[in-house]
Amino acid sequence: MSAAQRNGVASLVIAHGLVVNAAGRRLAHVVVDAGRVTAVVDAAEPVPAAERVIDASGRVVIPGGIDGHCHVAQVTGRWRTLDDYAVTSAAALWGGTTTIMDFGIPRDAQETPLEAAANKLALAAGARCDVALHGAVIDWDETVPAQLEELARLGVRSVKMYMTNRGSTMADNDTVLKVMREMVRLDGLTYIHAEHDAMIADCTQEHADAGRIGIGHLHETRPELAEEASVREVLAMAEYAGAPVYFVHQSTPGAVDLVAEARARGVEAHSETCPHYLVLDDGVYSSRFPEWYACCPPMRSAETVAALRERFADGSIHTVSSDHSCYDLTQKRERTDDIRQMPHGLPGVETRMPVAFTALAEGWEYADPAGAGASGDAHDGGGLLERFVDLFAAAPARINALPGKGAIAPGFDADLVVFDPSEARTVDGGGLHMGTDFSPFHGRRLRGWPQHVVAGGRVVLDEEGFHDPGPVGRVVARLGYRESLARARALPAAAVPVPATPVGAAVPEGA
Ligand SMILES: [Zn+2]
Repeated sequence: MSAAQRNGVASLVIAHGLVVNAAGRRLAHVVVDAGRVTAVVDAAEPVPAAERVIDASGRVVIPGGIDGHCHVAQVTGRWRTLDDYAVTSAAALWGGTTTIMDFGIPRDAQETPLEAAANKLALAAGARCDVALHGAVIDWDETVPAQLEELARLGVRSVKMYMTNRGSTMADNDTVLKVMREMVRLDGLTYIHAEHDAMIADCTQEHADAGRIGIGHLHETRPELAEEASVREVLAMAEYAGAPVYFVHQSTPGAVDLVAEARARGVEAHSETCPHYLVLDDGVYSSRFPEWYACCPPMRSAETVAALRERFADGSIHTVSSDHSCYDLTQKRERTDDIRQMPHGLPGVETRMPVAFTALAEGWEYADPAGAGASGDAHDGGGLLERFVDLFAAAPARINALPGKGAIAPGFDADLVVFDPSEARTVDGGGLHMGTDFSPFHGRRLRGWPQHVVAGGRVVLDEEGFHDPGPVGRVVARLGYRESLARARALPAAAVPVPATPVGAAVPEGA
């Protein structure tokens, strides 16, 4: 218990907000001290004494976002993304994300998975928000099992592998299967970028031979079938190995449905999508600035986007991550004549919340989510806000086994976002805070912008603007995949609607 608490004064109270967890909501005061939520008090009670009180009347309070898929200071061939941990993490906070997850991807055959992860952990010392890490394996050799053990010891409990990008990051099927088996042994999770490499290579070559290899043709070179064929193959391998598997950036309803079917057979499979696949379609490649949209997989047809959004709303997709990759327009424009020479990936850590919230809300039977009135019993067509919290924070915390994250409950980290779901702003691509000069969402009118952001108990965004907390971000050591699920089941505070807890009540063991 901190000194402030002993005097009966918490460091911060967010008062009178509609507090929303993935499993429910209530009007409440959230009490914060020493970096954690210490109590959630019914709003009918007096506001507890605190050094600072933020009035969240008429607004929504949710857990800070967890972006499970960011690339920070990423080197791919001759390209390097332009932001470092200080910039990416500050931009994340601006956008309501209080934990980012990066990847330790070996830059070439000389760098081992362990070295790649160690390099990222060292860079993360500059982070303004909390950080967790995924490992990555490209080539199997007899040292890999011991490296994965060491990664697990460092709290890195997942490994990403690419089914495409031959000659750079691609892992062959032998490697994928062996690593899956190791991750089962180490209670970890296998992350997969699923695109069928032979189809992509063939299709790209065919387009190059026909002189159709500029950015305007990107979507034609990477067909939906290539994604789905790879998802199908990897699911079979995961089923064979008994391995939990997570698909990054699923961009087609067919790919999502394959995951759902596998889950129905008992495969522990997870589906992630990204904001851009929910709101942008392949018409962008015939727009004035097609280079703004160079990423893999590419944007899909308008029909595909509409079907993907249905799955985003109905729970078939589990998480929404940015796949943040921060190149600027100078880099993007250097080789628009040949997509094979371009840097692929989009800046998005800052805009994940409004793009995802807007996409979800537009597809929802939506009426007045914050209009809780006196009862706190708002009706928004049945759980839009809860669904959003799950996609944005709770599910990424659960699946990635991040202790103390993803819920507003006593004992959890005080990572909180206050927002007004009805407030709309127009994206100014040049006015954001990532290390670039554009946004693929420039000019779009979006809802779901954070007004207050609290990270580790510190108010970093408020009506006055951004308050840089300095390099206070911690590296979060992850639990095992099954260990985390078991713990979540045993911890009702995270799983049930926010409990009313008296101020000063004991923090649950192991929270
Ligand atoms: Zn990525």
